[in-house]
Amino acid sequence: MFQAYLLKYAEIGIKGKNRYKFEQALCSQLQRRLKKNDGKFKIINERGRIYIEASEEFDDNEIVNTMKNTFGVTEVCPVGVIDDSSWDNVCEKTKEFLIEQYGENNLNFTFKVKARRSDKRYSMQSPEICMELGHYLLETFENLSVDVHNPQETIFIEVRDKVYVYSKRIKGIGGMPLGTNGKAMLLLSGGIDSPVAGYMIARRGMALDAVYFHAPPYTSERAKEKVIDLAKIVSSYTGPINLHIINFTDIQMYIYQTCPHDELTIIMRRYMMKIAETLANEAGCLSLITGESIGQVASQTAQSLLVTDSAVSTLPVYRPLIGFDKQDIINISKEIDTFETSILPYEDCCTIFVAKHPVTKPTLKYIEKSETLLTDIDEMVKKALETDEVVRVEG
Ligand code: ATP
Ligand code: MG
Repeated sequence: MFQAYLLKYAEIGIKGKNRYKFEQALCSQLQRRLKKNDGKFKIINERGRIYIEASEEFDDNEIVNTMKNTFGVTEVCPVGVIDDSSWDNVCEKTKEFLIEQYGENNLNFTFKVKARRSDKRYSMQSPEICMELGHYLLETFENLSVDVHNPQETIFIEVRDKVYVYSKRIKGIGGMPLGTNGKAMLLLSGGIDSPVAGYMIARRGMALDAVYFHAPPYTSERAKEKVIDLAKIVSSYTGPINLHIINFTDIQMYIYQTCPHDELTIIMRRYMMKIAETLANEAGCLSLITGESIGQVASQTAQSLLVTDSAVSTLPVYRPLIGFDKQDIINISKEIDTFETSILPYEDCCTIFVAKHPVTKPTLKYIEKSETLLTDIDEMVKKALETDEVVRVEG
């Protein structure tokens, strides 16, 4: 019996033309993610269903993982494909399929059969298929029993050109297929939060570019490599990321030498935002993304966020972690596999220049006043933009 998979996706808001676009985007993402297994799989998109059919041996675990981690997929169902649709054969193959899926000793649950007959020429109608197959399974497996209202398992059978049977449902990561919502620029540091923030926005269908501000020699090559590694992990979900690496040392030193030290972080953050905004506009991005969350550190109090936000005037700043506790963020970073890399102990550029007592309640008026001392800053921002090194990463 051929093995295949039926993929389910959320259908809210994707009616009509949008649905077609959504399915196209999902199929092309699946194609990209299954590329490693070139030629072994066929993606079939017909009548509101997406099937992946295999033509030769493959590693089931790996493929299921690939599919369930594709944005847009809510469920992956392993399917038995029955070529010969004569009734006796359908029963026999369904039996084999259930043994393979559950193991012979685990066939001890309540069930019901749900049938869908897309090929109206088939000799039996749906209610008859349900009844006949139900009887057959009860006779075949003595520890199965029927419960039509609240079954532990539902055995789905679908008659098309072939007959498809499935029952197990593996949860997918959901969201929207990549590329259905434009592109955003992620401010990616080496910490725990920003990779999670990027992942969450990409999960809603946005492709990502990223920018990392490094400050050699205060931050090492290894810190930079760590950020590239993080971008790679994120890109295994999101597709290729253009990671911009900007040399921020001169700007950082200049602010350090010119402005009150307790305002250092917030002013630095504002210039990061401005540079990211320029890069984002050049790359056609529709927003910036940061890993900030209210109150996490001094530079993320509500007042600090207000002042940081004011630095950007042409794009919205998405902060998907704004209401998350640190532990929630850590949990996601473990799930998406960025945690172990994020906690590697390489310094990030903000830890070197941190003040002992940073302002927690900055006001825009005072910060802007301090910034007027930075008479050469426009020139320096221009120079920093010239250091842009773009690394294209693909995990
Ligand atoms: P993270 O874990 O993302 O580093 P954090 O809690 O350390 O977050 P901050 O250092 O205050 O937070 O930075 C807040 C946000 O600013 C980060 O989530 C990130 O989006 C951005 N950011 C900070 N430092 C950098 C950097 N060196 N390069 C790019 N973006 C940065
Ligand atoms: Mg950080």
